Amino acid sequence: MSKFSNQRIKKVTAYTPGEQPKDRRYVKLNTNESPFAPSPYALRLARLAAADLKLYSDPECRELTAAAAEAFGIEKDEIIFTNGSDEALNFAFAAFCDENNGAAFPDITYGFYKVFADLYGVPTVEIPLKDDFSVDVNDYIGVYKTVFIANPNAPTGKALSVGEIEKTVKGNPENVVVIDEAYVDFGAQTALPLIKKYDNLLIVRTFSKSRSLAGGRLGFAIGNKELIADLNRVKYSTNPYNVNRMSQAAGLGALCDSEYFDYCREKIINNRNYLSMQLKSRGFEAVDSLANFIFAKKAGVAGKEIYLKLKEKGVLVRHFDTPRLTDYVRITVGSKEELDFLLEALEEIL
Ligand code: PMP
Repeated sequence: MSKFSNQRIKKVTAYTPGEQPKDRRYVKLNTNESPFAPSPYALRLARLAAADLKLYSDPECRELTAAAAEAFGIEKDEIIFTNGSDEALNFAFAAFCDENNGAAFPDITYGFYKVFADLYGVPTVEIPLKDDFSVDVNDYIGVYKTVFIANPNAPTGKALSVGEIEKTVKGNPENVVVIDEAYVDFGAQTALPLIKKYDNLLIVRTFSKSRSLAGGRLGFAIGNKELIADLNRVKYSTNPYNVNRMSQAAGLGALCDSEYFDYCREKIINNRNYLSMQLKSRGFEAVDSLANFIFAKKAGVAGKEIYLKLKEKGVLVRHFDTPRLTDYVRITVGSKEELDFLLEALEEIL
């Protein structure tokens, strides 16, 4: 830390991304990426876009916006594209929260919410999950804070119904409720239809998971046009060209290739069921997940030990060293081959 850093920077504990070691080839099941390549059409459009890299990208992402508006049945001013959905979350914190307008989110959830809050000096309320790791939406009614809920939640994979989301949105008419749907395409219910009914609902999504474009850094937020205008004020006050040419093109291709999208997510859902069954048959307890990962533990074996031994065998999973999570590992649902490699490694370890 330099002597020049401000008080907020001094205090913030930055987000720790999942490790990306390069010392050997790993079966990488630690950062919830897709095991499948991006849509071939997305890659073709990205390659063509690369030829124009000398020019700035379209700050309005017009082609992508038009395609998304059609795909999601919304107006063009009800969506904003961002550099990964992390940036959409960043914009939401910058637009809706400050020292006097706090944020509320579950005590166990995506770690970036707390990081953004600290970075912007936003007071937070972290609401405990129930013992079974579920969110009780009654805890969020009338909290008078901007609410952030990942649905499905991370790292548990547990999801709320759209009725429960609606209750939360309805119960906070004076505040924005941000529903982070990074993992929604793997079987949970989306709250998308509710944006026409409520002016305080913001939905955040990503191309990183179900559309295999994690490295392209493309996310978006959908909501009432005034909310989107607020996010655009932040974007045009920080980085108007936030989505590069190749990512805009790849996103357009991925969005148009709905057949490939459906093929990939169906495979992930099948593989998730397979992994869950196989883990259970080996004595693991696995949280019921509607995401592309499974949170699991085995009685008598520490989560950290499983993580370390798997790493030795060339398999990366994620371990969180906090009291309620320490028994568990989070395993990304990979390809069938990757999962069989993991299961074999687990057999040897256990
Ligand atoms: N939300 C949740 C719940 C996540 O797990 C992630 C991925 N780490 C993100 C948002 C951000 O994803 P991206 O920036 O790649 O869109």
